[in-house]
Amino acid sequence: MSADRRQITFTDGFEVGTLALWSSRDLVWYSDQAISRVRVIRLADGYYAQFLVDWDREEEHEFQGEMTGIDLGLKEFYTDSDGDTVENPRYFRKSERRLKMLQRRVSKKHVKGKKQTNRYHKARKALAKQHLKVSRQREDRARKDALALVRSKDLIVYEDLKMRNMVKNHHLAKSISNASWYQFTQWLKYFARVHGVIVIPVPPHYTTVDCSCCGAKVKKTLSTRTHKCIKCGTVLDRDHNAAKNILSKGFKLLALILNSTQGHWESGAKSSKAQFRPSWNSIPARKRNRIPRGETDHWLKNRDVLVLSQLDELRTKFSWEFPARPLCG
Ligand SMILES: [Zn+2]
Repeated sequence: MSADRRQITFTDGFEVGTLALWSSRDLVWYSDQAISRVRVIRLADGYYAQFLVDWDREEEHEFQGEMTGIDLGLKEFYTDSDGDTVENPRYFRKSERRLKMLQRRVSKKHVKGKKQTNRYHKARKALAKQHLKVSRQREDRARKDALALVRSKDLIVYEDLKMRNMVKNHHLAKSISNASWYQFTQWLKYFARVHGVIVIPVPPHYTTVDCSCCGAKVKKTLSTRTHKCIKCGTVLDRDHNAAKNILSKGFKLLALILNSTQGHWESGAKSSKAQFRPSWNSIPARKRNRIPRGETDHWLKNRDVLVLSQLDELRTKFSWEFPARPLCG
């Protein structure tokens, strides 16, 4: 690497030669020891060097007592439990159309059983570049939306969507949204850790069907946009109702965990942050079975994902209640 850290030359016989740094970030700040690995990747539009930097990022967060549930959707990117929405950007549609067009072009130029023509390879490269562009737009958007949410909230509950079910879907628009949701939740977890904000995944069952006020089951088809409860008369946007259910699921889970782990905190000595961590085994088996399975297991066992003592602190500070009943109003 050059002294000003603007260039890297590979001396181990790798044929790529010298790469120039073209980035918003400067590598000058990191010592050679902090950069533990360099990896070169080849994408549709060139070679890139990735630097793995050992760096603990921590940001200040001003806690305001804001709690929210979010429902990830197709129409809006997400709807929160206050009924606010974040849109899917319009350029996604444009990119999607272009992707379809380029895909058709590639298929048309494909010759079965023969050596492919130059025209085919050209079309194939154009398609690969468009895929790259779409994935960059998506990544960028996922990161920005996640950061904005983490900055404005202290506790965020979202649906733990299973990637396995998602991959099965062949519809293009749907598969693009699935990928965005996944990236978004990954960024959400990352930023939450950096900002000390709590993020909880809950299992995705019945969040659309249940009435967020009285709990009655209100069946809907995919095209029913409004939730109208016959039992209690609640009328809400479909996604708003789902977001409220997601938040209340998060509450149920937290109430269960906080109540069953009180007095059973297990201390770990490594982290400089709060030291409490509930142990999975300290929860009575009877109650353990009532905690929904999924990613939740993971954060119960792994203090990296959720520091519960912080939750306890915030609960006292903002007199948060985690009612085990649906939310009305
Ligand atoms: Zn109702």
